[in-house]
Amino acid sequence: MKLEDQLIVLAHTAYCAKFYIAFRGSLEKLIELIAYSIGEAAPDADQISVFIRKEETQRTLEVTYETALWRSADRTQSWRLICLAVTADPEVAKRLLAKRPPSPDCCAYCLQDERGVMEALKPELDIYNNPIPGVMLHRQCSRPWGLMRDLVARAKS
Ligand SMILES: [Zn+2]
Repeated sequence: MKLEDQLIVLAHTAYCAKFYIAFRGSLEKLIELIAYSIGEAAPDADQISVFIRKEETQRTLEVTYETALWRSADRTQSWRLICLAVTADPEVAKRLLAKRPPSPDCCAYCLQDERGVMEALKPELDIYNNPIPGVMLHRQCSRPWGLMRDLVARAKS
């Protein structure tokens, strides 16, 4: 895929993440959403597929586009697309941090259920590296969660 097309796919993948907040589904569906978002200029589904399955692309999305994309280890091997952009409002962050997921099998940040896939979530650690009860997170989701913690802590001081 041309660099220009790569940048378009990256930007629209990030846009889809923002729009859907936390997507879970098949690779085909995900490609369809990205292609639909791009419109007429969208590269072929096969090309998008090869590009977004690359580890390097997923790293770029996470580091540069505040977007997490990965294939889960669950029964259906579903794909996840999560927006990692956090609010700048400490009050909103406080509310989000206080909200507890419907079950301890869910990620506290993106709320996706990982029942049966124990290794998908890790407990949040406090500053002494002790697990915080009830707060389980995907690796990808722990950074925005930490940023919200920092935001609220800074607003208090
Ligand atoms: Zn998550």
